[in-house]
Amino acid sequence: VPPHARMDPGGNVRVVVRVRAFLPREIQRRAECLIRMDPVSQSTTLMAPRDGDSDPANARARSRRAVAEDKTFTFDSSFWSHDRADEHYATQADVYDSLGEEFLDHNFEGYHTCIFAYGQTGSGKSYTMMGTPDQPGLIPRTCEDLFERIAAAQEETPNISYNVRVSYFEVYNEHVRDLLVPVVPNQPPYYLKIRESPIEGPYVKDLTEVPVRGIDEILRHMHTGDNNRTVASTKMNDTSSRSHAVFTIMLKQIHHDLETDETTERSSRIRLVDLAGSERAKSTEATGARLREGSNINKSLTTLGRVIAALADPKKPPPRSTSSISSLLRPKSRAGNSSSSTNNTNVVPYRDSILTWLLKDSLGGNSKTAMIACISPSDYEETLSTLRYADQAK
Ligand code: ADP
Repeated sequence: VPPHARMDPGGNVRVVVRVRAFLPREIQRRAECLIRMDPVSQSTTLMAPRDGDSDPANARARSRRAVAEDKTFTFDSSFWSHDRADEHYATQADVYDSLGEEFLDHNFEGYHTCIFAYGQTGSGKSYTMMGTPDQPGLIPRTCEDLFERIAAAQEETPNISYNVRVSYFEVYNEHVRDLLVPVVPNQPPYYLKIRESPIEGPYVKDLTEVPVRGIDEILRHMHTGDNNRTVASTKMNDTSSRSHAVFTIMLKQIHHDLETDETTERSSRIRLVDLAGSERAKSTEATGARLREGSNINKSLTTLGRVIAALADPKKPPPRSTSSISSLLRPKSRAGNSSSSTNNTNVVPYRDSILTWLLKDSLGGNSKTAMIACISPSDYEETLSTLRYADQAK
């Protein structure tokens, strides 16, 4: 069992972008694809909408000179999933091969990983994470690969046994809800408490963790959680785009040394996170509950971006929040240099949102983190905002 204090020389943070295909409504309005990706340099260019773009929002952006120009960004990978006929089309398998597989290798070495899907509602986050029955995404592919590796290892090294458990929770309005517990009709949602253990760090108290023995079981729990998420969000009169959904697979490898008769354990967590729609962070006209909700989403997404940026380059000062909402909301005591943090956490503002605080164990240290920025091919302003967010996180 290797010591946990080794730093991976390959760098532990990846920021990638993926553009989806047109939806029927975009085909119907004869939308223009505003995205170009260069397969060699991996750069992504957002092109200014043309005069007469069929989307009124793009036409408005066009008329404002400041935004009406092409912008180019470079990420660790650019996945072109727009046009299936194109030779550079990135399939679900391509995304898994380029990211998921490497992350699972890391889990088997005993480390944590965390993959986030960021983007506006409808940009392809759940397609990328969950996918469809025909086109499974990162989560089912990770589960399948996980159990295949376990089956192969059990043949080769019978002295190692494996234990897999899953949990599924959502963070809504800075509260945590267990998605593996059914929603009780006519009852307000039940929120779990967050605790901090001196060894494990922050965790959700009483969160359901279920043992799973195979891909079917794991997917069944995942679907149960998705249904519970939808039921709860329908009660709140909206879609699930307002919460962050965190699916966690806990892998324990128990190594029994036949010579010394000692057992050692390696535990790793695989976190797969479908973030709230990034457009929810800007509730310009909202008041009351909606404003609070929008600003909480904004706070968690902004903090996540700053945490990832700090991890990607520990020497670089974390980017300042660019949003007026989040700067208004940041408590006075935390303005400027955060006073709440100590030691090595002082540049990484984990504590500034529930999401980053709860995922602290899987962000930083020897963990690997990836942010997949999902973009629409035809929405200039939202796509620019997503690309800027991803750009400052890397
Ligand atoms: P989000 O989770 O960001 O709200 P979805 O994943 O639900 O968005 O995607 C919106 C729609 O676009 C869905 O119908 C989905 O199947 C489709 N879609 C998303 N990404 C792709 C892609 N890469 N290729 C084909 N269809 C996609």
